Amino acid sequence: MHRFDSISVAPPDAILGLTEAFKADERETKMNLSVGVYQDASGTTPVLRCVKEAEKRLLDTESTKGYLSIDGLPDYREAACQLIFADQIAAERVAAVQTPGGTGALRVAAEFLATQCGPLRIFLPTPTWANHNAIMAAAGLPVETYSYLASDKKTLDFDALIEDLKTKPKAGDAVLLHACCHNPTGVDPTPEQWEQIASVVSEKKLIPLLDFAYQGFGEGLDEDAIGVRTILRQMDEAIVCSSFSKNFGLYSERVGTACLVSGSAETTKAALSQLKRVVRANYSNPPRHGGAIVATVLADEGLTQMWHEELAEMRTRIASLRKQFVDGMAATGVDQDFSFLLDQKGMFSFSGLSPMQVDQLRSEHGVYLVGSGRINVAGMNESKMEWLCNAVAAVLR
Ligand code: PLP
Repeated sequence: MHRFDSISVAPPDAILGLTEAFKADERETKMNLSVGVYQDASGTTPVLRCVKEAEKRLLDTESTKGYLSIDGLPDYREAACQLIFADQIAAERVAAVQTPGGTGALRVAAEFLATQCGPLRIFLPTPTWANHNAIMAAAGLPVETYSYLASDKKTLDFDALIEDLKTKPKAGDAVLLHACCHNPTGVDPTPEQWEQIASVVSEKKLIPLLDFAYQGFGEGLDEDAIGVRTILRQMDEAIVCSSFSKNFGLYSERVGTACLVSGSAETTKAALSQLKRVVRANYSNPPRHGGAIVATVLADEGLTQMWHEELAEMRTRIASLRKQFVDGMAATGVDQDFSFLLDQKGMFSFSGLSPMQVDQLRSEHGVYLVGSGRINVAGMNESKMEWLCNAVAAVLR
């Protein structure tokens, strides 16, 4: 009898599995709108010019491959916090650790909550990024939900969201909020709605956990920080998990930050020691390269300017693809109006396509979407837009 013989096969990751199927698809014209990576007009996920330049400098100057400290590179942490909070929060109130991507940040935050703030539950929006459930559950946090998307699948059901936050959690529970560019819907609260959300979270004494994976992909670096900064104007305490995967294109380098904001320097010190304990028992210390790239770019005025331009290029191109798709769909003459896509932010939107239509798009046209009908707008392509719109129109008819 082998001990491992009883192990059953885990279901494949729905989104990454689709990418495998896409790669194996031999059709000449095909499009992958499933996985959340930015692709340029030639269909590749580029290395930003500022990143290439920083890497050249690092190659020349790097003198050791020794371990980083548990919380990562100090210059990186400082730059990452400045982007998130600007000058709103005194540095002594922020405990930050450099993490392997936004996923690593969420996992550290979740384990911190479970071990230091429990017993508590975490409330996730419906819908949310599929991995949120798995990450929270893996850290031992009981997961609950609150309303987010309206039944039209296009807008925020703000009344239901507020009602749920007022009635479902109890004091001390945590609530996960997408700071901007909600994944999978692209539907974000307005600044006025953020004020109301912050009031309820504060009045109910909930712990806000802000997932900030797309800063700069919505309207701009500061504009996208409005949720985080509004919450922190009304409350002393929050946890923010950020990522440089998307806005620096550093997907495979695994670079993110878990930042805990507390009311005092003393509490922050204690919290940092506990965050470090979580890190030590998980991956000991973060990888250097991605964090060093970000720190190098953000310490140099010229490279920072270059980054701002490249980020703006990605952001405006996504907005332009949204417009081209909406116009293209209108030109096909289908009944459905896709103009709601223009109000949504970031890479993703719900297309409103049913699972059957999603299947049909894949099998008959080589267009890959996840079953929920979520589309990664950043995977669209100007040169194939007409072809894409005709394919979508064909399954709608
Ligand atoms: N949070 C959300 C909402 C995301 O969509 C993603 C990535 O897709 C992440 C966190 C994690 O990003 P990372 O690749 O940096 O781990």
